[in-house]
Amino acid sequence: MKGKYIAPFLDGEAFNCVSCHVYTKQNWYYLRGSSGPDGYGDQTNDPRFRISYCEHCRFPTIWYGESVIFPLNMSVEPPNDDLPDDIKRDYEEASSILNLSPRGTAALLRLGIQKLCAHLGQSGKNINTDIKGLVAAGLPPRVQEALDSVRVIGNDAVHPGKIDLMDDRSTASQLFRLVNFIAQKMITEPREIDEIYRNLPAEKLQGIKDRDGNQ
Ligand SMILES: [Zn+2]
Repeated sequence: MKGKYIAPFLDGEAFNCVSCHVYTKQNWYYLRGSSGPDGYGDQTNDPRFRISYCEHCRFPTIWYGESVIFPLNMSVEPPNDDLPDDIKRDYEEASSILNLSPRGTAALLRLGIQKLCAHLGQSGKNINTDIKGLVAAGLPPRVQEALDSVRVIGNDAVHPGKIDLMDDRSTASQLFRLVNFIAQKMITEPREIDEIYRNLPAEKLQGIKDRDGNQ
């Protein structure tokens, strides 16, 4: 991920756009109604309804109070580019229902984490042992603690089919970040360091090999 993700908030001067995800300036308006299509006739004005326009994509975000009511796939950072496509799809679907069903969101993300474990060479059968395996392979143990605390893994983990993962939106939101964090640590960073290594001058690499060979 480049830079920090700033979730959209009411009256925010700038944040990551719900539609294009770019961090940019937002222009705010009140949503008003008229009985005529030309803006004339009877007027309505309910200040709870607002609209913000992204300066980058020009697409509107419609607000009711502090809630985004359009588009609905909101409030989460985009999936890590290195995630496999089917997990990206779970992720996008999970974000599209976050407003309506945080528990459904959590269930989909749990499935995504299971698939990600399998993609990363774990059995894909038991999420507890899979996450332990990833920690042994270099994933920070704090990820395990975080997944434990939201009951995705651990003794209190909820079994698939019995959806009762968590019921609040902010906890569900953290799960998106955890999925991306696992992908960042276990896929993106190893790939990046491989790329750096491959672009080192050949004679230097030979020097390193010789040195390591002589130790
Ligand atoms: Zn935009």
